[in-house]
Amino acid sequence: MAKIEVKVPDIGGYDDVPVIELLVEVGDTVAVDQGLATLESDKATMEVPSSTAGVVREIRVKVDDKVSEGTVVAVIEADGGKTDGDDAAGGQDSGGKDKAGASGDGQAGKEAASRSEAADGAAKGEESPAQAPARDAPKAAAASGRKADVECAVLVLGAGPGGYTAAFRAADLGMDTVLVERYPSLGGVCLNVGCIPSKALLHAAAVIGEASHAGDFGIDFGTPKIDLDKLRDYKDKVVGQLTKGLVGMAKQRKVRVVAGVGRFVSAYELQVDDGEGKSQLVRFEQCIIAAGSQAVKLPGFPWDDPRVMDSTDALELADVPSKLLVVGGGIIGLEMATVYRALGSEVTVVEFMDQLMPGADRDLVKPLADRLKKQGVAVHLKTKAAKVEAQKKGLKVGFEPAEEGGEAPEAQLYDRVLVAVGRSPNGGKLDAGKAGVEVNERGFIPVDRQMRTSARHIFAIGDLVGNPMLAHKATHEGKLAAEVAAGEKKEWVARVIPSVAYTDPEIAWVGVTEAEAKEKGLDVGVGKFPWAASGRAIGIGRTEGFTKLLFDRATQRIIGGGIVGVHAGDLIAEVALAIEMGCEVGDIGHTIHPHPTLSESVAMAAEVFDGTITDLYIPRRK
Ligand code: FAD
Repeated sequence: MAKIEVKVPDIGGYDDVPVIELLVEVGDTVAVDQGLATLESDKATMEVPSSTAGVVREIRVKVDDKVSEGTVVAVIEADGGKTDGDDAAGGQDSGGKDKAGASGDGQAGKEAASRSEAADGAAKGEESPAQAPARDAPKAAAASGRKADVECAVLVLGAGPGGYTAAFRAADLGMDTVLVERYPSLGGVCLNVGCIPSKALLHAAAVIGEASHAGDFGIDFGTPKIDLDKLRDYKDKVVGQLTKGLVGMAKQRKVRVVAGVGRFVSAYELQVDDGEGKSQLVRFEQCIIAAGSQAVKLPGFPWDDPRVMDSTDALELADVPSKLLVVGGGIIGLEMATVYRALGSEVTVVEFMDQLMPGADRDLVKPLADRLKKQGVAVHLKTKAAKVEAQKKGLKVGFEPAEEGGEAPEAQLYDRVLVAVGRSPNGGKLDAGKAGVEVNERGFIPVDRQMRTSARHIFAIGDLVGNPMLAHKATHEGKLAAEVAAGEKKEWVARVIPSVAYTDPEIAWVGVTEAEAKEKGLDVGVGKFPWAASGRAIGIGRTEGFTKLLFDRATQRIIGGGIVGVHAGDLIAEVALAIEMGCEVGDIGHTIHPHPTLSESVAMAAEVFDGTITDLYIPRRK
């Protein structure tokens, strides 16, 4: 078989462009157009595509090498002159083929097998959105032999943000699509019991906060009167508007929605039970699993007592408890603490770790911790709620220090306890093994850079493929999976995923954190702009925030950023875009931002790092 040298193509006249990542290894099977290496010039990041399908026999460059048009990147042993559009590379991964055979569905099987091999190389990339599937995946069960009630090209299991996005994109790409959902309302956790209802309630909390703050500049709205029924209705209306919109969009796209709980029967079959004795067998050619996650229920808590709540219960807003304990000082716990404090509850937060919102830089969390303290929210760090006893008068909670020798508060009586200690993936509840899909011991489904599972015609996306469990990650993955299922040659390329806590103040961060940079020994410079120097922040009386950007000292490129302050969640998008675009400090500082806005703080943080800031005085180092 011919050995073909794959060279750097025309890259816009740039010379000596550094190789920043190798995407394949010797021995990998690659498809036509599959990326072999990533190059990064001053202005762009690009991949060197393979001009042929085959097996990588040599890699002639390494990371940090400088290359130009014509430099040989790799030598591929071509597999018989495959051309673009024919991505059956004949690789060593027989997983897809075996499973296709087991299914008894020849056509779908062949297609799945050929696609599986095309994706094989992609699975070896460094930065997978999740963990790559193992090679010892479970063997799929034999086809049931039953007649299918529903047949489709693509089945999407779960109608959360990942699932409905995948289904809509698949339909838009011309595939006959079925969406299976166990609940009557589409939209999953995010729309029904997550992002959307929590933000509707946080809006109410923010209005209460603003109104009380208005007293500082001479406007007195008095003590707010809270009509809980109306507030609940408002939240439900917001949710209803969005979920009904999804039903309409599914109809417009001719996506068929099948209601019921789905479980795999074999590699190409899913049984859907409606809970009333009726079941349907859906046969699919390809499948996208988007079954999401659920709240972790701490063992030993009296969960049959309605005063013990998870986030779904807390969003129901049954009442405003006089005393609320929030177990878990992460994003969800602190958002709900913000809501209930604004509505009038006396709130206590216990967190096992030594800071609130573990994962965010400590300095970002401090303004929030200070404000919570000012509002009378008690926070106990390095503490765990060890024992909860349901009594008539309330829930008696005993505490223990997280570490031996530490201190813990006395046991207390609370009207309600909200447990917000994380979410666990639903991967283990789908009989996925019967479809040949590997599920790890934690319930996550490993996927490659194209969102393919160990059964190559089955994709998985969203919360059940790994952290961060965020809606915008799920939707991004949903689109990718649908496009790959439609035959597009794509893989995960996003560099960063932003995180936001919609607390008051908001905290948002993206890319490398300062703590992470320190831990990894990265040579970074930090530009930090305090909002105390922002005209806009002073005007709205919210100067406790700041914006900080992290730059790689060698390249002057932005690699991370964090913002704390009102609207930080909206502001962080610019930082994410700057990282994706490979912006240098000058690109950000020289972009003219409108004045007076909080967005200026992003440019000013860049100027602080650059030493060109005029809105602050920073004494020169002698
Ligand atoms: P899900 O939304 O969990 O959807 C999965 C769907 O699959 C569900 O509808 C489920 O009923 C269905 N399903 C599961 N198993 C089956 C089965 N066997 N058969 C049929 N159907 C099945 N993220 C953000 O980005 N921003 C936020 O502000 C935010 N706020 C949040 C606030 C709260 C209180 C919570 C709990 C979460 C929040 N999240 C937020 C996280 C976000 O909701 C999730 O990351 C997102 O919903 C994940 O989407 P998904 O499509 O993977 O799964």
